[in-house]
Amino acid sequence: MTASMQGEILPAIYRFKLGGFEITTIMDSYVIRAGLMPSFGGEAAAAEVKALAVANRIDTDRYFHPFTPMLVNTGKQLVLIDTGNGSLSAEFEQLKGRLVPGHLVARMAQAGYKPEDVDVVAITHGHPDHIGGLTKAGQPVFPKARHVFGAVDFDFWKKGENVREARKFNRELYVKICLPLAERATFIKPGDEVVPGIRAVDAYGHSPGMLAFHIESEGKRLLNWADTAGQYAVSLQRPDLHLDVDDDKEKASASRLRIFDMAAKDSVMVAGFHMMPFPGLGWVEKSGSAYRWVPHSYQLNL
Ligand SMILES: [Zn+2]
Repeated sequence: MTASMQGEILPAIYRFKLGGFEITTIMDSYVIRAGLMPSFGGEAAAAEVKALAVANRIDTDRYFHPFTPMLVNTGKQLVLIDTGNGSLSAEFEQLKGRLVPGHLVARMAQAGYKPEDVDVVAITHGHPDHIGGLTKAGQPVFPKARHVFGAVDFDFWKKGENVREARKFNRELYVKICLPLAERATFIKPGDEVVPGIRAVDAYGHSPGMLAFHIESEGKRLLNWADTAGQYAVSLQRPDLHLDVDDDKEKASASRLRIFDMAAKDSVMVAGFHMMPFPGLGWVEKSGSAYRWVPHSYQLNL
């Protein structure tokens, strides 16, 4: 008798030490998206992007797109950065088939944490895959947590001015999910601390007020750059290309260049919500006039 086929297994939880902090990255879920073209660079760059996909051995018609929240235990506080898709696809008719259910809470349990253990939830920006896990049926999923939003991003989505057509529903979601959390929230700007050791960095553009978070303990550093890169190969190799999901395209490009340059020059380790391979940790190296992604190889566990 031969063994039966058991189906796919993907790694979805990873934990490592950063100085005195313990960091856990969790793959909330993933989707398979249609090819990188024309999302990256539009029709005008389609041939170039297709060639890039081939050169990086990425299927030209489909690519894997993960969602990766992060937990930072500073020893004093447990901080969750972004929340994944939650139950959005079940709760909102418009999102059925477009988003997938998130597994963050179940995987947190596997990693040893309950929702009530979370002291602080910090949101990088207001897109559905980052705020979706904040509430379930209108109730906060992390009942004891102080919530932290970027002041500029919160204002943008709250006011709802200059929201482009493709993001109108995103704005509705934001109003439903995030506005009621304001009473348990603090609002920060680049340079401000979330908690000691975690500081906000200007990553404006992809969402008008997106924040990255610089995490530092005992001289060890990590930059969680949120969605500064939409994809590990093409975003690094062609940071100039506009991305369809960037809300302020010029600002997003400028932030990419500035943050990639800083990450490369400072040799700082990076984590990204959509970076690969899981756990989405690595380094940025200058390569010609652009950059390349060097994924970490368990060097953190030596
Ligand atoms: Zn995202």
